[in-house]
Amino acid sequence: MTTIRLHNTKTRRKEDFVPLDPGNVRIYLCGPTVYARAHLGNARPVLVFDVLYRLLREVFGEAAVTYARNFTDVDDKINAAAAESGREIGDITAQTIRWYHEDMDALGARRPDHEPRATGHIPQMIAMIEDLIARGHAYEAEGHVLFAVDSYEAYGALSGRSLDDMIAGARVEVAPYKRNAMDFVLWKPSGDGQPGWDSPWGMGRPGWHIECSAMTRALFGDSFDIHGGGTDLMFPHHENEVAQSCCAAPDGEFAQVWLHNEMLQVEGRKMSKSLGNFFTVRDLLDKGIAGEVIRLVFLGTHYGKPMDWTETRRAEAETTLRRWMGILAGHGFGPNLIEALRRDGKWQADPEFLGVLANDLNTPGALARLHVLSKGKTAAQLAGFAYGLDLLGLVPDWSALPRLDGGEGGDGVSEKVAARIDALLTERAQARADRDWDRADRVRDILTDAGVQVTDVGGQATWTAGPGFDASRLEDME
Ligand code: AMP
Ligand code: ZN
Repeated sequence: MTTIRLHNTKTRRKEDFVPLDPGNVRIYLCGPTVYARAHLGNARPVLVFDVLYRLLREVFGEAAVTYARNFTDVDDKINAAAAESGREIGDITAQTIRWYHEDMDALGARRPDHEPRATGHIPQMIAMIEDLIARGHAYEAEGHVLFAVDSYEAYGALSGRSLDDMIAGARVEVAPYKRNAMDFVLWKPSGDGQPGWDSPWGMGRPGWHIECSAMTRALFGDSFDIHGGGTDLMFPHHENEVAQSCCAAPDGEFAQVWLHNEMLQVEGRKMSKSLGNFFTVRDLLDKGIAGEVIRLVFLGTHYGKPMDWTETRRAEAETTLRRWMGILAGHGFGPNLIEALRRDGKWQADPEFLGVLANDLNTPGALARLHVLSKGKTAAQLAGFAYGLDLLGLVPDWSALPRLDGGEGGDGVSEKVAARIDALLTERAQARADRDWDRADRVRDILTDAGVQVTDVGGQATWTAGPGFDASRLEDME
């Protein structure tokens, strides 16, 4: 079995990944707060986790991996968006979730197995907060419940900060009811017009962090395998999740591995509204940039490094994909050929490709290996290339290989010519089935004259445009 290695924020080392239960690998990603369309940076953790999910399914089996990603649908930013627009909170969150699905689907990200919503887990949050109070880790003050950071020795361990550093560095909300300036909110009171739920501490709503602790507990139990998010979430959000979960369940360990992606920038600068370089995934899709092109740009940078979105990279990714899709189309790749390769035992990952990818999700290395594999001459030799593209989610639909731009494939064969060759091969297959050998030979001669090289794999004919290929010779058929 391939060994997966991951850089674990918790230990600050790259480690062999050993699941708690190889038959039930559990991974969790902090999802979006749903009040606005996802910006390009939001796509990064989604794509990193999508690659992780696909790799884990490859190594441990599809049924052995469970992926959960939440929707934060109660938050003061959502309340503010509702107040500003005069719309109902439920409308805003429902529409944003729909958009999120559309946009992440377009990037080829598989939907997680569970997409829990904060508002669907209020009773579990209340129960956990009650546990924390009972164990002396939280206290009630003026309708708020706060987590007492002094009560948890290891507070700060994940992000590697001391309490003093945190107080000095963080923009701590000072409030008279806090015992320690770093104490964070588990529950807060709701006034008129604010969403609220009945609780032992009056009408109120949860603080942000408690939802991930309550939802992972509900779905996965007190210990699970991998937890992820952007580095911006490491402190305070993830630090607080650890504190809550480990204090509510001292026998659990919460996440074994923490995986953090670095931030996305645009043309070397932080993406921000004030710099005018802020855009959503949808803005790019609407400009006609294909989802798989965006995806390829992301995969070109290791998740642990800051990533730069640039026009040059966009153009390069488009050229690469056009060439790769041309190679696949030129060799007749599609559901039938894949089925034939599968029957022949050839539809599998190239071991070197998989090894590189398994080494801390080294996507740039895996893409470099695909460049090498793309030089295969026959469909059988290209099987590992095609499988790798599929594993990385770069082929949206095998029955309709994209021809970006609608132009020529990588080997200079236009869609029209490719269709003509396919028609000739169908003709040849029909002639053979009819035992009309003359006709079958005539078709073969036309293809040979034109420089088309035909290979049969598992009863399925595939072709490439060989040296000296001349499309005009395909015309003199009838
Ligand atoms: P939010 O909706 O702001 O909670 O963010 C959702 C996810 O997007 C979190 O995992 C963030 O870490 C991540 N994220 C936000 N901005 C960026 C960025 N510029 N680059 C990479 N990830 C980001
Ligand atoms: Zn979270």
